[in-house]
Amino acid sequence: MTYFTHLECAYCNKTFDKNKLWNLCTECGKPLLARYDLDKAKAGLQKEQLKNRDETLWRYRDMLPVINDKFILSFGEGYTPLIKAERLSNEIGCNNLYIKEEGVNPTTSFKARGLCMAVSRAYELGVKELSIPSAGNAAGAMSAYAALAGIKAHVFMPQDVPQPFISECKALGAEVNLIDGLITDCGKIAKELVDKYGRFDVSTLKEPYRIEGKKTMGYELAEQLNWQLPDVIIYPTGGGTGLIGMWKAFDEMEALGWIGSKRPRMVTVQSTGCATMVRAFEQGTEFAEPWQNAKTVADGLRVPAAVGDFLILRSLRESNGTAIAIDDDEMIDEANRIGRTQGLFVSPEGGASLAAFIKLKQTGWIKPGERIVLFNTGSGHKYMHLWNKY
Ligand SMILES: *Cc1c(COP(=O)(O)O)cnc(C)c1O
Repeated sequence: MTYFTHLECAYCNKTFDKNKLWNLCTECGKPLLARYDLDKAKAGLQKEQLKNRDETLWRYRDMLPVINDKFILSFGEGYTPLIKAERLSNEIGCNNLYIKEEGVNPTTSFKARGLCMAVSRAYELGVKELSIPSAGNAAGAMSAYAALAGIKAHVFMPQDVPQPFISECKALGAEVNLIDGLITDCGKIAKELVDKYGRFDVSTLKEPYRIEGKKTMGYELAEQLNWQLPDVIIYPTGGGTGLIGMWKAFDEMEALGWIGSKRPRMVTVQSTGCATMVRAFEQGTEFAEPWQNAKTVADGLRVPAAVGDFLILRSLRESNGTAIAIDDDEMIDEANRIGRTQGLFVSPEGGASLAAFIKLKQTGWIKPGERIVLFNTGSGHKYMHLWNKY
């Protein structure tokens, strides 16, 4: 059972029928968000009811957009560990530091959260072929859920993406197209074929449900911290789905009466080689200019333009958060530090979160004793080329 009622444009508020397939707003071209009957949900759903539910993101099923249970595609994604990082804290001289370990998700990244929702909804609405431009992890996640549903998967990735991302999609039965360019170029070519062959496009925030999967990270943080949100959340940001999703989850949970009005300060971490949001945040603009010649070993952060830019910037500003860029060598060093101290083999994106924390602590932006959550968004296993090099 779900309280999902309709879709609404995040920019112009136009509403859309939930029983049809949509990409961007037909009026203004901005992302659509799923809306729920929050009054009914508040009356019908108590947080105590969660106790005996499955330890996957489907424990928040009432606040997820799949209508009929039989279309749920699941490998047990979500409800990942929130680890109190004691040895790491001792080494860097802090306390109250947590790592949300997303590398244990199916297909080894948190992309599984978004794609399980998008593909389940596409399956429910009768889609036969899916298409995705991806910097790497999203393609693997889509391929896995598409395989489970018996839906044909077409993926478009930059040709210089590390081999494991390509091999994974192939093994999962997807048709892999390697493009000479970045994810934005992949997007353009994918779109032409979507129009030509009637495929459904599940690009980040160009369809409304990936964010619904990723918002569950916000529900989990609240539940795992006994309904007290942390002071700061540090999030490696590409397209920004997770950041925007968590921000949405906090509003939903407040409306449900599960949390109060206190919000964490949201921090976007990017690479110095592709720092679109950092630049726009510093310049105070509503939208972000595309980044020229984006380059970073953190494939998930190699996103030169994001359709949800204004939503990312809005949540950073509303939360009194900030945005910070980290260079690739630092990411690797800090990924290794997490490995050495906590036994977690994390992605460079996870290393970027720790590097950002250390910088913000040094400048005094993070105060001693504040409760901090760092996101490790993927496992180190798909980045073997990096670890051999360093
Ligand atoms: C996609 C990805 C990101 C960025 O996630 P968004 O929610 O799109 O900003 C970060 N880390 C990894 C490992 C990724 O695959």
